[in-house]
Amino acid sequence: MAGQGAGRSPDTPPGGTGGRVADRGAIADLAARFRRALGDGAVISEPEQLRTYACDGLTVYRATPALVVLPETTDQVREVVRGCHEAGVPFVARGSGTGLSGGALPRTDGVLVVTSRMRRIIEIDIPNQRAVVEPGVINLDVTKAAAPHGYYYAPDPSSQQVCSIGGNVAENSGGAHCLKYGFTAHHVLGLEVVTPDGEVVELGDGTADPVGYDLMGAFVGSEGTLGIATKVVVRLMRVPEQVRTLLAGFRSTDEAGSAVSAIIAAGVVPAAIEMMDELAIAAAEASVKCGYPAGAGAVLIVELDGPAAEVEHSFADVERFCRAAGAFELRVAADAVERAEIWKGRKSAFAAVGRISPDYIVQDGVVPRTSLPAVLRDIALLSAKTGVRVANVFHAGDGNLHPLVLFDSAVPGQEERAEQVSAEILEACLSHGGSITGEHGVGVDKVRHMSRMFTGADLDTMQLLRCAFDPAGLCNPGKVFPTPRLCGEVPGKRTGVHPLQEAGLAEAF
Ligand SMILES: Cc1cc2nc3c(=O)[nH]c(=O)nc-3n(C[C@H](O)[C@H](O)[C@H](O)COP(=O)(O)OP(=O)(O)OC[C@H]3O[C@@H](n4cnc5c(N)ncnc54)[C@H](O)[C@@H]3O)c2cc1C
Repeated sequence: MAGQGAGRSPDTPPGGTGGRVADRGAIADLAARFRRALGDGAVISEPEQLRTYACDGLTVYRATPALVVLPETTDQVREVVRGCHEAGVPFVARGSGTGLSGGALPRTDGVLVVTSRMRRIIEIDIPNQRAVVEPGVINLDVTKAAAPHGYYYAPDPSSQQVCSIGGNVAENSGGAHCLKYGFTAHHVLGLEVVTPDGEVVELGDGTADPVGYDLMGAFVGSEGTLGIATKVVVRLMRVPEQVRTLLAGFRSTDEAGSAVSAIIAAGVVPAAIEMMDELAIAAAEASVKCGYPAGAGAVLIVELDGPAAEVEHSFADVERFCRAAGAFELRVAADAVERAEIWKGRKSAFAAVGRISPDYIVQDGVVPRTSLPAVLRDIALLSAKTGVRVANVFHAGDGNLHPLVLFDSAVPGQEERAEQVSAEILEACLSHGGSITGEHGVGVDKVRHMSRMFTGADLDTMQLLRCAFDPAGLCNPGKVFPTPRLCGEVPGKRTGVHPLQEAGLAEAF
């Protein structure tokens, strides 16, 4: 979940990720070493400047890093990571800092490695339908570079104008069109990675099905805990022959939900199906005047793409299903301008909520698609019971909810109540067989929910993988896992014998 506008006191994030006292001598030595290797302009140590990196998109948690470095090449990243490894100083990678789970929250005793100077598109390889890019490249810039060839990069987080490919890889980011085309994991063909001990390795071989264990698959979605990606090979897709978009207004989310079920049950796979409820529509209206159907309790945006004949055929079905489910207004985009008009309200939805509430939490949970109506009812009941307003915006096709929990941090007790409601929404997702995060990751924010979803044994097994990459526990420590296990979240050896070791199933590294 992400809290916008509210703020905890500086350098006091939960989970022990900040507030630690830096070893000033070690940090000064590293600053001098990195200045020699990377140049003066690539190292930031002034407190005022360091503070600008204190949070990512989850602004409620803040921790001022001890040092910030801005490498330009893989060799420079390797030098920085080696320096940290040798000095036993933790480090955190940061792309554009738009993450909504605190994944790029710095360590007050550590180094923040920012990839914003690594923005080269190294190759657009049309015959092999792929591109090789540096990690700081902005998501939308890949599509811009491929567009003249009739290609594009499919994963499209709503933050695509600003977020980086490295951040997308680390978060396995999704977006409106991932229903049909899959998440970032389905579009990464190879990675160059600086491992936490400062080696450069290649994961994947740039093809769709590399031989051996899928270490690249393990890296995608690992939230910056297994190393720093320094090059990414991504798949490019052909721009579809036709795209058709409609906006449907319904009286209720139940009606809109049954339209979604009917569309999917008929075997139609839209490029996107997005839903917004009444409060989310009101926020978008107040912010960007999107002109969605008056009186709608929910709207659906359905987009189909592909060969023209197929799109035309399926589009007629979609219109029919929407009407049968109770749509009282259907608008079909006649051209790209009208398409953009339809998307405007949805794309601005998160920020738009700022128009109807001073503060809000962006929650991210998943439920099986068929449970959407039940979970939405649970959320409505919760909201009525607590008086906390919740606006719902979501990727209806894959059951990925983004409830926006509204509060005013100036009113005592409201923030705590909103956090409670937010946590109960995740409980509702879990009780319907869902998950605590769809696309925003665990980061620091959802660490406390991990043990609701996984057993201790599950978490220990995941830690084995992490320890295999990062035995010293220096790479983005304090994220994803609730408690230090096996190789530990802090440098140094774990004492005592772990149950997995006792059972002969694992060794400590
Ligand atoms: C308005 C808004 C809309 C959003 N919409 C979506 C959406 O539709 N779908 C979605 O999935 N997300 C969405 N997000 C969340 C966010 O944009 C994504 O998680 C994005 O992938 C983060 O990219 P970033 O470059 O900002 O990464 P950062 O926030 O800088 O970092 C995110 C994580 O990646 C790690 N990391 C960064 N670079 C590297 C690297 N080179 N190697 C290894 N680890 C690295 C960091 O350590 C951190 O753990 C949205 C955010 C905002 C603010």
